[in-house]
Amino acid sequence: MAEEKEKTQGQLLEEKLLYKKKNFFEISSKEEIDQMYEYAKGYMAYLDAGKTEREAVAVAIEMAKKAGYTEYKLGDALKAGDKKYFNNRDKSVAVFKLGTNDLEKDGVRIVAAHVDAPRIDIKQNPLYEDSGMCFLKTHYYGGIKKYQWTAIPLALHGVVVLADGTRKEVKVGDQPGDPVFYINDILPHLGREQAQKPLGQAIAGEDLNVLVGGLPYADENVKEKIKLSVLSILNEKYGMTEEDFLSAELSAVPAFDARDVGFDRALIGAYGHDDRVCSYPALTAVLDDNGTERTSICLLVDKEEIGSEGNTGAQCDVYNDLITCISKALGCNEIKVRAASKCLSSDVTACYDPNFAGVFEKKNSAILSCGTAMCKFTGSGGKGGSSDASAEFVGEVRKLFAENNVCWQTSELGRVDAGGGGTIAKYVAKLNIDTVDMGVPVISMHAPYELVSKADVYSTYKAFAVFVK
Ligand code: MN
Ligand code: MN
Repeated sequence: MAEEKEKTQGQLLEEKLLYKKKNFFEISSKEEIDQMYEYAKGYMAYLDAGKTEREAVAVAIEMAKKAGYTEYKLGDALKAGDKKYFNNRDKSVAVFKLGTNDLEKDGVRIVAAHVDAPRIDIKQNPLYEDSGMCFLKTHYYGGIKKYQWTAIPLALHGVVVLADGTRKEVKVGDQPGDPVFYINDILPHLGREQAQKPLGQAIAGEDLNVLVGGLPYADENVKEKIKLSVLSILNEKYGMTEEDFLSAELSAVPAFDARDVGFDRALIGAYGHDDRVCSYPALTAVLDDNGTERTSICLLVDKEEIGSEGNTGAQCDVYNDLITCISKALGCNEIKVRAASKCLSSDVTACYDPNFAGVFEKKNSAILSCGTAMCKFTGSGGKGGSSDASAEFVGEVRKLFAENNVCWQTSELGRVDAGGGGTIAKYVAKLNIDTVDMGVPVISMHAPYELVSKADVYSTYKAFAVFVK
C-alpha cells in the first residue's frame, strides 16, 4: 500500500477556498450509482411511451393515478391531504398534493417543465402524389436544424377529429413490425450545389415532405392512384377522408427508441429529452414524496418550443387560476400564497461539448455528469428576456442542495453573444414567485436523437425531491 502523504498548508487552504465542479460518478457511493441506473430505466420507458405532449400528458396521468391521485376540475373543493391532477385539454397537466402547512406562510413548491418537443408537424391540407411517391406537406415545430430530419425513420403521432366530431388517435411507426415514414435527401453524387449552401439553407422548410406511400390503386380510371390507395388505408384504419386532415394534429417524430449509449451505459440517447428529461424528474419527485406538510405542484406545460403561447402554454392564466383555486379552497389569500411560493423551473441546458468548444465558455458551462444544472439567468445578448433569479433565492437552493447531498452545477447556455434562448421560468416568476432554472445538460439539443448523462437525470430528480419535500 502506498503511504498517504500529509497535505501541505497550501493544499489544505486550496481545499478550503477553491470551488471545483465534481463528477457525480466520482463522488457517489456504489448504492447511489446503482439507484441512478435503475432510475434511468424508468425514464427511458417514459420516453418511449410519450413522444408528443398529448402522449406525455396521458402517461403522466396514468402514473399519477397509480400513485393514488384523482382528477380535479377548476373550482372543486379541496382539503389538506388531497392528491390531484388537473388535465388541461390533454396537452398539459398539473399534478399536485396539498399539505398541512400554512400556505400563506410557506407557499407552494412548484416544479415546472414542458412536454412538447421539436418535431415535424403535418399541414392541414397535406396529401399529394408525385412521380411514384405520395407525400405529406409539413411545417416544422420548434427550432430544428432541418437537414438533421432527412433520411431517418419517422413515426406519425397525433389525433384526427372526424367530420362528426369523433377523435381518432394515430400512432404508427414505433411498434415492431410497424411501417415508418421518411423525408428524402439528395444523394452526394448530385449534391454538389447543395453542399455549397450554408447548413441552414441546405434543406428548406418546404423540402421537408414526409413520404407515406408508393402503391398505386388498381383502377385505370383514377388520376392520383397512390394518393387514393393511401387514403383508402387511412379510411379503413381511422375512418378518415382527405378533408379530415383539416381538423387533425399529426406530427412526424423520430422512430428511434431510447437507448443506452456508451460501453459503460452512462448516457442515454433519445428523441425528445428536451424537455421530458426534466418533466420525468419533476413528476416522479412529487409522486414519490410521502410528506404530509408541504403543498407541491408539478406543472407539465405545452408549447414551450414555440414561445409558451396558447391556452396550454406556460403563459396561459390557467396555472395562476389553479393556485388561486387551491388558495381559496383552503381558505387562504392567494396573493400571500403566491408571494410565499417558490419554483424550480426545469428545462434543459446546453452541455459543454469539446467538439464545438468555440461556442462555449467552459468555466460557466454545464459539464456532462457534473449534476443538475442551474441557470441563474437565460436569455440572449445582455441577459435579454431572462427573469434572472436573485442571489438570495439561489443561496437558499444552494444551501438546501448542500444539506441533502445533491450533485449540481451552474450553467450558462454558451458564450456571451453566441446565441441564447429562453424558457418558462419568466412566466412563473411574473406571478410574484421566486423562480430559478434548473435542468439536465443535453448534447445535440433539438436533434432527432439527443444525449444526456444518467447521472444528470438522477441528480435532477434528487434536486426536485428535496425541493418539494
Ligand atoms: Mn426545453
Ligand atoms: Mn427546446
